[in-house]
Amino acid sequence: MPLTDSYLERPRGIAEMWGRYLESGEYSDFLVTCGSRDFHVHRLVICHKSSYFRMLCKDNFKEGITQKLELVDEDPDVFQAVLTFLYTGIYETDKIAGSAELEIPPEGSCGSSVDSENDEENHRKGRPATTEDLVAHIQLYASGDKFDIRDLKDVSSKMFRNQLMRTPVENLDVPQIIQAVYTCTPLNDASLRPVLIDYCVQNLSTLLTQPEMASVLADMGQCAFELLRAYKDEADLRSRKAVEDQRTAVLEIKKAESQQLRESLAKLQKRDTHLMEILASHHNCRNCGKVFGGAPQVYGPMSDRVMLRCKACYTKHS
Ligand SMILES: [Zn+2]
Repeated sequence: MPLTDSYLERPRGIAEMWGRYLESGEYSDFLVTCGSRDFHVHRLVICHKSSYFRMLCKDNFKEGITQKLELVDEDPDVFQAVLTFLYTGIYETDKIAGSAELEIPPEGSCGSSVDSENDEENHRKGRPATTEDLVAHIQLYASGDKFDIRDLKDVSSKMFRNQLMRTPVENLDVPQIIQAVYTCTPLNDASLRPVLIDYCVQNLSTLLTQPEMASVLADMGQCAFELLRAYKDEADLRSRKAVEDQRTAVLEIKKAESQQLRESLAKLQKRDTHLMEILASHHNCRNCGKVFGGAPQVYGPMSDRVMLRCKACYTKHS
């Protein structure tokens, strides 16, 4: 599923044109300095989707007057990816530090530029993610949150969830991912934190054997608390399910028992009918001619048939 396409609100040619303007800085009317890098950007583009930039570019802000902004806490590679998303709609993480090292790894997996053909292929195959991929999504989500770019938050949180959910816990450095999520997202985050906590609960047995988990949970008290709460919810759910299963089993047994009773009753009724039929057709023994003096006998405990045996000569009548 090429996630990028649904976020491309402009035709590809226009996106490419804006991409070129981002690269060349031509007609730029705003300068963003991030680390040692200068980004010559266009207010028209950065303000369109970001209320953060919209506000800063107003005349009553220093940045609006000087048309310059210095981002001190932002990673330049992450900011480059934010700009690429704003300019072209392309979501890519493969130039973000950490992911970049993995561009030509032995397994052939790399960062996750959704737009490239290879990654579309990987995406379809649902390849497992690396820790670096996931950290890159977390960083882009945090930037989307900081600059208030809703589309970027949507895409990055979806990518984070999809990749995390299909990656075995053994492939990941989960303590590092916890560290990143609980450092980069606000306390009330409802996108990355619940997904990560759910993943941790599902893989708790493996994670609890990792010494780094103890240390990260000691540092991230909020995560430890949320993990505990989710584990309790999971345990409650399981115990409710066990009670429900037991109730269902008891009902099944009762159902089987009552079915058996119904069948026995039907057999008895049939036997009665049969007896009435014999009595109606046989008044005397067909062998010795005497009147029956014996009681009706059943063929066997499971039989619905009965017989009359003459008391004088023991001839069977059925
Ligand atoms: Zn007889």
